[in-house]
Amino acid sequence: MTTPTLPIYLDYAATAPADARVVEVMQRYLTVDQLFANPASRSHMLGWQAEQVIEQARRQVADAIGADPREIVWTSGATEADNLALIGFMRANRERGLHLVTSTIEHKAIVDTAHALEKEGFEITWLTPGQDGRIEPEQLRAAMRDDTALVSLMAVNNELGSINDISALAAVAHEFGAAFHTDAAQAVGRIPLDVVAQQIDLMSLSGHKTYGPKGVGALYVKRHPDIRVEALIHGGGHERGMRSGTLPTHQIAGMGEAFALMQQQYDEDNVHIMGLQQRFLRGLEGLDGVFSNTPLNDTEKRAVPNILNLAFEGVDGESLLMALRDVAVSTGSACNSASVDPSYVLLGIGTPRSLALSSLRFSFGRFTTEADIDHALTLIRHAVSGLRTPPRQAAD
Ligand SMILES: *Cc1c(COP(=O)(O)O)cnc(C)c1O
Repeated sequence: MTTPTLPIYLDYAATAPADARVVEVMQRYLTVDQLFANPASRSHMLGWQAEQVIEQARRQVADAIGADPREIVWTSGATEADNLALIGFMRANRERGLHLVTSTIEHKAIVDTAHALEKEGFEITWLTPGQDGRIEPEQLRAAMRDDTALVSLMAVNNELGSINDISALAAVAHEFGAAFHTDAAQAVGRIPLDVVAQQIDLMSLSGHKTYGPKGVGALYVKRHPDIRVEALIHGGGHERGMRSGTLPTHQIAGMGEAFALMQQQYDEDNVHIMGLQQRFLRGLEGLDGVFSNTPLNDTEKRAVPNILNLAFEGVDGESLLMALRDVAVSTGSACNSASVDPSYVLLGIGTPRSLALSSLRFSFGRFTTEADIDHALTLIRHAVSGLRTPPRQAAD
């Protein structure tokens, strides 16, 4: 009998495994002999103690982005944080204007939410990034209007790894009296984040992209009279009235621990991941017709090192995915009953349809090893060459 081996996991941008140290912390808050009490319970010590656990995690998450703990609103993830930021802010600030500016390559949690707002009567301007996946401050300036209430542009793109200059973009939004939101789910631990220095008003965060648990996230809401957010989930008035619901102590403590670990080993993690990226790129040098959709090869840091979106010319991405069944990666494409639609993000940066359909996203993390990279490279080289071999002519 053979033991099935796990595929090599190169899909960290979809989700990262939780760090064992995070899981250890999470296990303290569930069972009868532990601190399982409702953190909102005011009538007994167990409730207060659970609340202290929540407040410690709030401080850990706030510290990671240079915020005040009172500015952190717990949510079920970055998706909910994005919904709360966009819908909650636009509804609460109708008198400021009905116009929202965002981009075509945002995560679906922003794109679909903006479409929902459009149906509610808000107006959306969709900025188109350059080939490097970035929105330029001048582009944003040209889109700003007197009635622009909010600008939402992501810090790091989840399919490309491209980095926006959120500080410069926020400055433009503020020049026009608008607030600035950024989805930083992929940015935590990869680029420096400081909501004060970068002048961010709203920031979405996720637990599981940073070795924390799935199902928890947060919205940073700047403490300022102009930054008002209307609740989407009512009942009990938790989180200063912005998000009701019993707080999941284990999830929140896990996210706090994950963010504290991120800060402690920020440099270590990034040096490790940059080494993996270089190794991966070097290993692909012998393979012709490989193009990077991720902006590379420049001194200006335009992309995070943990995401590599690569096009394999002449190879169908779905077939490559099948051939690479021992490597967990993703295509950004969407499968419909009739056909495969290329990634809207790749189309959004002007990648030709055929090349977009030949693209795969590889993403690495804290637990990826050099051996993983080497093994994956062997499998990729073999699969790509195999798929490119012209079909043998029938013998006559
Ligand atoms: C993963 C991700 C999300 C969604 O986060 P969840 O916590 O899974 O809801 C949102 N935005 C970006 C950029 C992401 O990468």
